[in-house]
Amino acid sequence: MLQISIVPVTEFQQNCSIVYDDQSNAAVVVDPGGEVEKIAAVVAELGVTVEAIWLTHGHLDHAGGAEAAKQQFGVEIIGSHIADKILLDNIEMAAASYGLTGMHNASPDRWLEEGDSLSIGEHKFEVLHCPGHAPGHVVFVNHANKFILMGDVLFQGSIGRTDLPGGNHQALLDSISQKIMTLDDDYQFVCGHSAPSTVGAERSTNPYLQ
Ligand SMILES: [Zn+2]
Ligand SMILES: [Zn+2]
Repeated sequence: MLQISIVPVTEFQQNCSIVYDDQSNAAVVVDPGGEVEKIAAVVAELGVTVEAIWLTHGHLDHAGGAEAAKQQFGVEIIGSHIADKILLDNIEMAAASYGLTGMHNASPDRWLEEGDSLSIGEHKFEVLHCPGHAPGHVVFVNHANKFILMGDVLFQGSIGRTDLPGGNHQALLDSISQKIMTLDDDYQFVCGHSAPSTVGAERSTNPYLQ
Protein backbone atom coordinates (compact mmCIF):
# COMPACT_ATOMS: atom_id res chain seq x y z
CA MET A 1 0.00 0.00 0.00
CA LEU A 2 0.98 3.58 -0.59
CA GLN A 3 1.71 5.34 2.71
CA ILE A 4 2.62 8.87 3.67
CA SER A 5 4.42 10.40 6.61
CA ILE A 6 4.38 14.19 6.92
CA VAL A 7 7.29 16.09 8.46
CA PRO A 8 6.66 19.81 9.01
CA VAL A 9 9.84 21.72 8.15
CA THR A 10 11.13 25.30 8.24
CA GLU A 11 9.70 28.42 9.89
CA PHE A 12 6.86 28.10 7.35
CA GLN A 13 5.72 24.71 8.74
CA GLN A 14 5.85 23.25 5.28
CA ASN A 15 4.53 19.68 4.97
CA CYS A 16 7.50 17.72 3.64
CA SER A 17 6.02 14.34 2.66
CA ILE A 18 7.76 10.99 2.79
CA VAL A 19 5.67 8.86 0.44
CA TYR A 20 6.42 5.15 0.37
CA ASP A 21 5.26 1.70 -0.64
CA ASP A 22 5.03 -0.50 2.43
CA GLN A 23 5.71 -3.66 0.38
CA SER A 24 8.97 -2.68 -1.29
CA ASN A 25 9.88 0.16 1.12
CA ALA A 26 10.62 2.36 -1.91
CA ALA A 27 10.17 6.01 -0.93
CA VAL A 28 10.38 9.53 -2.27
CA VAL A 29 10.84 12.73 -0.29
CA VAL A 30 8.57 15.46 -1.59
CA ASP A 31 9.51 19.10 -0.90
CA PRO A 32 12.40 18.91 1.58
CA GLY A 33 12.38 22.63 2.38
CA GLY A 34 14.88 22.27 5.21
CA GLU A 35 15.65 20.43 8.45
CA VAL A 36 17.00 17.48 6.49
CA GLU A 37 18.28 15.79 9.70
CA LYS A 38 14.70 15.68 10.93
CA ILE A 39 13.53 14.17 7.59
CA ALA A 40 16.39 11.64 7.67
CA ALA A 41 15.43 10.59 11.22
CA VAL A 42 11.86 9.83 10.10
CA VAL A 43 13.14 7.95 7.04
CA ALA A 44 15.34 5.82 9.32
CA GLU A 45 12.47 5.21 11.73
CA LEU A 46 10.21 4.09 8.86
CA GLY A 47 12.96 1.86 7.48
CA VAL A 48 12.30 2.98 3.91
CA THR A 49 14.73 3.56 1.04
CA VAL A 50 14.61 7.02 -0.51
CA GLU A 51 14.85 6.71 -4.29
CA ALA A 52 14.33 10.33 -5.34
CA ILE A 53 13.47 13.84 -4.26
CA TRP A 54 10.43 15.39 -5.94
CA LEU A 55 9.79 19.14 -5.91
CA THR A 56 6.34 20.63 -6.45
CA HIS A 57 7.79 24.12 -6.92
CA GLY A 58 10.79 26.32 -6.33
CA HIS A 59 9.89 28.28 -3.19
CA LEU A 60 12.43 28.18 -0.39
CA ASP A 61 10.16 26.42 2.11
CA HIS A 62 9.74 23.54 -0.37
CA ALA A 63 13.15 23.38 -2.04
CA GLY A 64 15.62 25.06 0.36
CA GLY A 65 16.83 21.69 1.69
CA ALA A 66 16.75 19.83 -1.64
CA GLU A 67 20.50 19.89 -2.26
CA ALA A 68 21.21 18.81 1.34
CA ALA A 69 18.65 16.00 0.97
CA LYS A 70 20.28 14.98 -2.32
CA GLN A 71 23.61 14.62 -0.49
CA GLN A 72 21.98 12.89 2.47
CA PHE A 73 20.17 10.24 0.44
CA GLY A 74 22.40 10.08 -2.66
CA VAL A 75 19.49 10.51 -5.07
CA GLU A 76 18.36 12.86 -7.84
CA ILE A 77 16.17 15.96 -7.57
CA ILE A 78 13.19 15.62 -9.92
CA GLY A 79 11.04 18.67 -10.72
CA SER A 80 9.60 21.08 -10.68
CA HIS A 81 8.90 22.49 -14.20
CA ILE A 82 11.73 24.52 -15.78
CA ALA A 83 9.67 27.72 -15.44
CA ASP A 84 10.75 27.62 -11.76
CA LYS A 85 14.48 27.74 -12.57
CA ILE A 86 14.67 31.41 -11.62
CA LEU A 87 13.15 30.64 -8.21
CA LEU A 88 15.44 27.67 -7.57
CA ASP A 89 18.50 29.72 -8.61
CA ASN A 90 17.58 32.43 -6.08
CA ILE A 91 16.61 30.49 -2.94
CA GLU A 92 19.63 31.80 -1.02
CA MET A 93 18.73 35.40 -1.91
CA ALA A 94 15.08 34.87 -0.96
CA ALA A 95 16.12 33.22 2.32
CA ALA A 96 18.37 36.19 3.14
CA SER A 97 15.42 38.55 2.65
CA TYR A 98 13.56 36.57 5.35
CA GLY A 99 16.69 36.50 7.56
CA LEU A 100 16.94 32.73 7.16
CA THR A 101 20.16 30.76 6.84
CA GLY A 102 20.94 27.16 5.88
CA MET A 103 18.83 27.16 2.71
CA HIS A 104 20.47 26.54 -0.65
CA ASN A 105 19.80 27.08 -4.34
CA ALA A 106 18.69 23.86 -6.02
CA SER A 107 19.60 22.40 -9.42
CA PRO A 108 17.17 19.66 -10.41
CA ASP A 109 18.61 16.67 -12.25
CA ARG A 110 15.41 16.45 -14.26
CA TRP A 111 12.66 18.98 -15.09
CA LEU A 112 9.06 17.82 -15.32
CA GLU A 113 6.32 18.58 -17.82
CA GLU A 114 2.57 18.12 -18.02
CA GLY A 115 1.73 14.44 -18.52
CA ASP A 116 5.03 13.02 -17.28
CA SER A 117 4.77 9.85 -15.23
CA LEU A 118 6.74 9.06 -12.05
CA SER A 119 6.57 6.09 -9.75
CA ILE A 120 7.20 4.94 -6.22
CA GLY A 121 7.58 1.17 -6.36
CA GLU A 122 4.61 0.12 -8.48
CA HIS A 123 2.54 3.23 -7.73
CA LYS A 124 2.30 5.57 -10.69
CA PHE A 125 1.90 9.34 -10.39
CA GLU A 126 0.79 11.64 -13.21
CA VAL A 127 2.46 15.06 -13.34
CA LEU A 128 0.18 18.07 -13.82
CA HIS A 129 1.72 21.48 -14.56
CA CYS A 130 -0.34 23.93 -12.48
CA PRO A 131 1.15 27.44 -12.78
CA GLY A 132 -0.17 30.41 -10.81
CA HIS A 133 1.30 30.17 -7.30
CA ALA A 134 4.67 29.56 -8.97
CA PRO A 135 5.20 29.43 -12.76
CA GLY A 136 6.67 25.93 -12.69
CA HIS A 137 4.44 24.41 -10.02
CA VAL A 138 3.62 20.73 -10.58
CA VAL A 139 1.12 18.48 -8.81
CA PHE A 140 1.54 14.69 -8.46
CA VAL A 141 -1.58 12.53 -8.86
CA ASN A 142 -1.87 8.82 -8.06
CA HIS A 143 -5.14 7.84 -9.77
CA ALA A 144 -5.23 4.26 -8.42
CA ASN A 145 -5.48 5.53 -4.83
CA LYS A 146 -7.12 8.86 -5.73
CA PHE A 147 -4.32 10.66 -3.94
CA ILE A 148 -2.75 14.04 -4.78
CA LEU A 149 0.44 15.74 -3.64
CA MET A 150 -0.86 19.28 -4.09
CA GLY A 151 1.95 21.59 -2.99
CA ASP A 152 0.68 25.18 -2.67
CA VAL A 153 -1.97 25.16 -5.44
CA LEU A 154 -5.08 24.43 -3.36
CA PHE A 155 -5.61 24.30 0.41
CA GLN A 156 -8.44 23.41 2.73
CA GLY A 157 -10.58 26.55 2.40
CA SER A 158 -7.99 28.53 0.48
CA ILE A 159 -5.74 28.72 -2.58
CA GLY A 160 -2.05 29.48 -3.05
CA ARG A 161 -0.90 33.08 -2.72
CA THR A 162 -0.06 34.82 -5.97
CA ASP A 163 1.76 37.94 -4.75
CA LEU A 164 5.23 36.38 -4.89
CA PRO A 165 7.55 36.71 -7.95
CA GLY A 166 6.09 34.74 -10.87
CA GLY A 167 2.66 34.51 -9.26
CA ASN A 168 -0.48 34.95 -11.39
CA HIS A 169 -3.93 34.80 -9.84
CA GLN A 170 -5.87 34.05 -13.04
CA ALA A 171 -3.38 31.35 -14.03
CA LEU A 172 -3.86 29.74 -10.62
CA LEU A 173 -7.64 29.77 -10.93
CA ASP A 174 -7.32 28.27 -14.42
CA SER A 175 -4.96 25.55 -13.17
CA ILE A 176 -7.39 24.63 -10.40
CA SER A 177 -10.48 24.59 -12.60
CA GLN A 178 -8.86 22.82 -15.58
CA LYS A 179 -6.59 20.31 -13.83
CA ILE A 180 -7.84 19.73 -10.27
CA MET A 181 -11.60 20.28 -10.36
CA THR A 182 -11.85 17.85 -13.28
CA LEU A 183 -10.93 15.05 -10.81
CA ASP A 184 -13.56 13.10 -8.83
CA ASP A 185 -14.83 14.37 -5.47
CA ASP A 186 -13.18 11.54 -3.55
CA TYR A 187 -9.60 12.41 -4.54
CA GLN A 188 -7.76 13.18 -1.29
CA PHE A 189 -4.87 15.59 -1.16
CA VAL A 190 -2.09 16.72 1.12
CA CYS A 191 -0.87 20.25 0.61
CA GLY A 192 2.19 22.30 1.43
CA HIS A 193 0.79 23.82 4.59
CA SER A 194 -1.96 23.01 7.06
CA ALA A 195 -4.52 20.20 6.88
CA PRO A 196 -5.33 17.71 4.09
CA SER A 197 -8.65 17.83 2.21
CA THR A 198 -10.54 16.36 -0.74
CA VAL A 199 -11.44 17.68 -4.17
CA GLY A 200 -15.13 17.36 -3.30
CA ALA A 201 -14.86 19.30 -0.05
CA GLU A 202 -13.09 22.17 -1.80
CA ARG A 203 -15.49 22.08 -4.75
CA SER A 204 -18.44 22.61 -2.43
CA THR A 205 -17.03 24.87 0.32
CA ASN A 206 -13.84 26.65 -0.81
CA PRO A 207 -14.74 30.37 -1.03
CA TYR A 208 -12.25 30.96 -3.87
CA LEU A 209 -13.96 28.41 -6.11
CA GLN A 210 -17.58 29.47 -5.82
ZN1 LIG B 1 4.99 28.14 -2.37
ZN1 LIG C 1 4.80 26.77 0.73
